[in-house]
This record gives sequence, structure tokens and C-alpha cells, in this order.
Amino acid sequence: MRSLVLIGHGSHLNPDSARAVYHYAELLRGQGFFDEVLEGYWKEEPSLRQVLRTARYTDVTVIPMFISEGYFTETVIPREMGLGHQGPVPPEGVVRQIGGVTVRYTLPYGVHPSMSEVIMQRALEACPDASPEDTALLIIGHGTTRNPNSSRVVYHNADRIRASGRFREVAALFLDEDPRVNTWPELLSSRRVVMIPFFTAEGWHTQETIPEDLGLTGAVTEFGERTVYYGLPVGTHPQIADVIVQLAQDALAQSPMPGEDNPDHEEAWAAFMTRADAGLRLGEATITPHAGLYEVRPTLDEGREDLELLATPEGLRDRVRLSDSGEYRPVHTLRNLPRGWRAVFDAADLRRAIGYLYPAVVEEGYLASQRALQATPWASTARRQTGIYTKVQQATPEEVAATSRRVCGGCLKTRLWAGDNLYRTFFDGVPGGIPCAEACTFLVSEIRETVAARQQQERE
Ligand code: SF4
Repeated sequence: MRSLVLIGHGSHLNPDSARAVYHYAELLRGQGFFDEVLEGYWKEEPSLRQVLRTARYTDVTVIPMFISEGYFTETVIPREMGLGHQGPVPPEGVVRQIGGVTVRYTLPYGVHPSMSEVIMQRALEACPDASPEDTALLIIGHGTTRNPNSSRVVYHNADRIRASGRFREVAALFLDEDPRVNTWPELLSSRRVVMIPFFTAEGWHTQETIPEDLGLTGAVTEFGERTVYYGLPVGTHPQIADVIVQLAQDALAQSPMPGEDNPDHEEAWAAFMTRADAGLRLGEATITPHAGLYEVRPTLDEGREDLELLATPEGLRDRVRLSDSGEYRPVHTLRNLPRGWRAVFDAADLRRAIGYLYPAVVEEGYLASQRALQATPWASTARRQTGIYTKVQQATPEEVAATSRRVCGGCLKTRLWAGDNLYRTFFDGVPGGIPCAEACTFLVSEIRETVAARQQQERE
């Protein structure tokens, strides 16, 4: 039995940021290669710190849904998931034993060799009659002077496509490192140039920075005798789904011995289902058993009959993404669960649905009820931050306390990381008895803002 975990960046601000990961997780579930497909995020829930706890089996493959190697795949994800690895990931991935679970961490999907075919497809969409006689292909990468690995994949794709002979010239140029993208007129001599951004999705760079820097006026721009065709980013091509399926199959081939049920995980869910069978209030929701099925609804909607009926875990996931006032809910235990719905599931779907409604809450709540959940104090969380988040190490205890009061005051969880006590959990009949083992990335982000605002004031 094997679990697959797809890792996305996620966002504290954009409710649509995780959509691509949702899409690929659903696709892979449908393929049935793995016995379960889960998702974890840097800036959403379940977080990178929590996601391994949510895996049902003792064999777990983790695929980062990133387009290139770099800071996130080499530093943030392995660090936060406790993989004991930093730096470039070898082609065969990194394998670790963590608490009786085999965790296999792969390269990101963007480095898969079949990405070259996706780039060529994008180029042919932009310029259907591209020919080896007069057409150059320019792959535009982000690049960063801090990590040469992030551009390596762009060069590899350029080499492979050059070897295919499908274009007169092939070049790799970058926004943030040399050779820069604006040097293309000197580097390429072909009459026609197809430019393809090696980016995950449309955004600021693909829609503004690149066109502005290069003077592009649309999908086709004339530069005197030469014509530039500007294509869509590779990450949104439908064929990416095939790349991800291929990557999952490759990963599966490296997992010859299937795992088994993770006993800790199963114990938590068995205890939860026993409570659910008797009727249970969890956070702001009530679970009521009925004729072998389970109804979930906001507790405040008890007795209402005019509710929207939801029939799938994904339907519930999407319904609770925004509050009733339209606010995005990156932290699912914020006290703003939208009302007006009820969902009905069988036992298997109830597990997935609760995983979407309150990610990792069953696993962590059960550990807390057994007095076995280890809290991570703020000082440790701050110390392990890197990149722009190292700033939180300069937060004063007063700033941490004040920001936490503001942010966590709206959250159901009890801050074990701040020394607060949780004597009884929802397993013991207290609906809001949900532990918070360590500061979430939403709070870390807010503390960073607090420090930045204070430092700005000090400079003025
Ligand atoms: Fe909730 Fe605060 Fe914990 Fe974040 S840090 S999950 S806001 S209690």
C-alpha cells in the first residue's frame, strides 16, 4: 500500500493558487497507481510540517509540483518535511525512514525529460509552421544568481531540443541571470523566433515583465525583418498531466516493496470513526451518522432544511475555501466556516472530506488527546526560517505575542507552541479542542510583516 503526496506552494492570499495541484491529485487518483493521493503546501494546509502525518501508509512518495529545482525543492521542502537533506536532489531521489515510514522524495516534475516535448508543443502552437530552415526557439527561464540549479533544467531542455533538429537555433536565456533574455537579437540570427516561457503558469513575469522588457506587443510582434512569436507558459499545457503521470510511474518503479497501514494513523482514524458513529462536533461542524452514511454541516445550521447539498469531498473542499463574506481561508480552523451547506458521505469519503475541512486535525488531535503531540516552541520555528523569513528572528517577544493575539484570536486551535494548555480535545467532547503544535506559515508571515513595519518606522 502506497501513499503519494503532491507538494504545492499554495498561497495565503490567492484562493486559486492550489488549483493545479488539486487537478493533478484528482487525475492521479483516477489512475489508481497509488492507494491514496494527498496534497501538502508551503502556504496552505496541510502544511509541509503536517502532511506526512496525514499519510495512511508506510510507503510515501513525495513529488514537488515545481517547474525547476531551486530554493523550494532543495531547501524549504526537505527542511520542513524533516527529510534530513539539503541541497540538490539526486536523480534517483532521496529516501528516508521517518518514524517507521519510508519517505521517497523525487525531483520536481519540471525536470522530467518529457518536458522538452511540452516545450516543442508550445512552440508549435505559437508558430505552427516553425521550420528547421528559418525558425529559432528561445526558452525563457527565470534563473537566479543564488542557485545555478534552477537554470540547469532550462539548459537541458535546450540541449535536447537542439539535438532533435526541429529548429534552426535553440537558446536558453533568463530574466534574473546571464545570459539575459534581452540579448536575444545578438544571439539569434533566424528570421523567425519562437519564445516560450519556462514558467509554471501565467503571471506577472509571463504577462508583464517579459513582454515589457522585450517590447512584445502580443502573440506575434514584428521587429523589422524578423518576427517573434510569444507562446504560453509550459506549465499550463495539458500535456503536463502526462508528465506527472509518467513521474508518478517512475517513482512507483522505485518503490518495489509496498508499505502497509501506518498503525499510528489508523489508530487515530479508528478513534475518530468511533466518535463519528455516535455523532460528533468538530470545530464549527457537526457530524451525524445516518443509515450507514455521515452528514456533515456547520453546527450553526443545525435544524435548517434549506441547505445546499454537497456530495463529494472535493465539493466540500471548494465550498469552505471562502468565508460567507468572501474572505479566503488559508487556515481552515479560522472561526469563519461558511454556512448554508450540508454534505453526505460514506465512511471512506468522510475521511477525505474531514481531511479537506480540517487538514491534519484528526491526526494531531488524537496525538494531543493521548498526550503525545510534541509542540515546537516559537524560538525553534523562527530559527529554522530561511530566505525572506529570516526576518522573524528579529521579532521581539512582545511583537510575537501581539501578532499572535491578533491572528490566533480568530482561530479555533490552542497554541501549544506558545505554552497554552489543552486539557480536552474534540475526541473528549470539546468541539473547539484542537491543538496547534507550532506556529503556522500564515502567522510566520504576519510576524514578518510586523517586524518589517517596525524596521521601516525606525528608518523614517
Ligand atoms: Fe491558528 Fe495561530 Fe496555530 Fe496558525 S499559529 S494555526 S492561526 S493557532
